[in-house]
Amino acid sequence: MKKKHLATAFAAVLLLSGCQSQFNVSGDENQSHPEKKATKEEKVDKQTSNEFSIPDSAFNVIKEIGGKKIIQNPDNMYALVNKTYALPESYIPRDLVRANVSYSFGDAQIEKALMRKEAAEALADMFNAAKQENIELFAVSGYRSYVRQEAVFNNDAAKKGIEEAKKLVAVPGESEHQTGLTMDISAHSVNLDVVQEFENTAEGKWLADNAHKYGFILRYPKGKETITQYEYEPWHFRYVGKKYATIIYENNLTLEEFFERAHEAK
Ligand SMILES: [Zn+2]
Repeated sequence: MKKKHLATAFAAVLLLSGCQSQFNVSGDENQSHPEKKATKEEKVDKQTSNEFSIPDSAFNVIKEIGGKKIIQNPDNMYALVNKTYALPESYIPRDLVRANVSYSFGDAQIEKALMRKEAAEALADMFNAAKQENIELFAVSGYRSYVRQEAVFNNDAAKKGIEEAKKLVAVPGESEHQTGLTMDISAHSVNLDVVQEFENTAEGKWLADNAHKYGFILRYPKGKETITQYEYEPWHFRYVGKKYATIIYENNLTLEEFFERAHEAK
């Protein structure tokens, strides 16, 4: 089956902050192809396309509900959440934990400290590795529930109207933060804020260069705004595991482009 739910055809769109506003999408379905045994020469020939041959289970499974494309397998570690593909209202990751890292808000036990377990452990590995190089990172905002996003959105809509709110706040379900696989990261050099100046700091540069080694990607890169539909966010990192993060980093891709290549490789 080849269902293509690619986020390629976005027309002009508002570029919102992925962190404060919020949309995301993804989608697809598939099954994996067991690795075929190839001769050495075949392996060389097919290296590029094989890199993007990923299991069907890694793609979004999408169902259109009320005119919206809703992800049916939200526990997928590779879920593509964006302005095309939304998470279900009821989706709450079952394995949320607090990461063993420093937070910008200290020890407060709040929702945004949480991440899914695998991502939280990878985050701690990354922060510890950074510390070895005298790079001190702080986690600012991780998991955000549908309910919380909805409250923020509704509050804004009550004050400014729905259309204006959509420009400023992510529509519930469309925030990647609801996956529990995302963390906004900052440092004292920018007063623990999430600002574009972070890209010029030692911490921001370290993350851009090294995050993939720990399974994270810079989700909204500079120059890819028309693809991601988000402004450049040097602070927003998404966990996808080391293998895909490295492919995405080495090929200078967004998650949308990665899945597009993966579709083509099927
Ligand atoms: Zn964010």
